[in-house]
Amino acid sequence: MFGGHSAVPSSTPSRRAVFGVVGASVLAGLTACSAAGSSTPAQTPTGAAASPEVPGPNGALAVGGEVPTSSASPMTTPPTTPAPTPTATKRIRRTFIPDYQLPPIVGGLAPVITKIETKHPVVFLTIDDGNIKTPESIKLMAEYDLPASLFLTRDTVADNPAFFNAFKAQGSLIENHTVTHNINMVRQWGYQQQLTDMVGMQEYAFQHYGRRPTLFRPPGGAYSNVMRKAVADAGMKAIVTWEAKANAGKMDYQVGNSLRPGDIVLMHFRAEFAADLAAFRAAQLAAGLEVVLLEDFLGVA
Ligand SMILES: [Zn+2]
Repeated sequence: MFGGHSAVPSSTPSRRAVFGVVGASVLAGLTACSAAGSSTPAQTPTGAAASPEVPGPNGALAVGGEVPTSSASPMTTPPTTPAPTPTATKRIRRTFIPDYQLPPIVGGLAPVITKIETKHPVVFLTIDDGNIKTPESIKLMAEYDLPASLFLTRDTVADNPAFFNAFKAQGSLIENHTVTHNINMVRQWGYQQQLTDMVGMQEYAFQHYGRRPTLFRPPGGAYSNVMRKAVADAGMKAIVTWEAKANAGKMDYQVGNSLRPGDIVLMHFRAEFAADLAAFRAAQLAAGLEVVLLEDFLGVA
């Protein structure tokens, strides 16, 4: 993609961000995660309806601008010389100084993010569940050199957790999509049960991938204030939903008919992974967007 930035050394991207917005809303109408078991269609976020979003400190667009990766350490990270870390260097082609600030946890409630308000030509890929594990998916992600946030469910990866190390080596990160993938957890479970299911995945991820997730994706997409509190108490920074998805070999958009800067795209580890990824890639290239790791942009890697 963006031609020839292959072996650019990278350092940790900026943790800085300046712009806050909370993804509004509601995922009603979007189906998600249905492959993970129940065929229950996506539920409307019942609890969410009654949960006003965190007041987003909107405003203050920061100075943006792309900087060459080699000088991409505007904040805390001292410039590093090209260390021989091939997997890390491969990931970042250009570093964008984030012009978005993750809203803080307010009143004990983690923020909910659906889209990133940014002026940069970036898009974020997220891949859920982990049911279907094929060497082809590893190969394709490597070939396209795509970083992604992998929202994995313990029960769907437990037969072969090591499979996902390949993506991690490519620059992707493992995030939290619960232990059991109960798509009705918002309705069926109280705070403690939700928290237990989240913490179980936090620990599982740490055990197998060496990092505790910072982002949470609700099975099915529904969330509530109870969930937002549990997410914060489990040690995570935000609930991440989505604006577009690659599904059944094509793109589905909540808004418009193309990808836009800052879109968060949902995919799954399904049998049609190759077709979905091809649809995403075509849309990404058509929109002139670069795939950036969401955690890097949010400063929660
Ligand atoms: Zn799911």
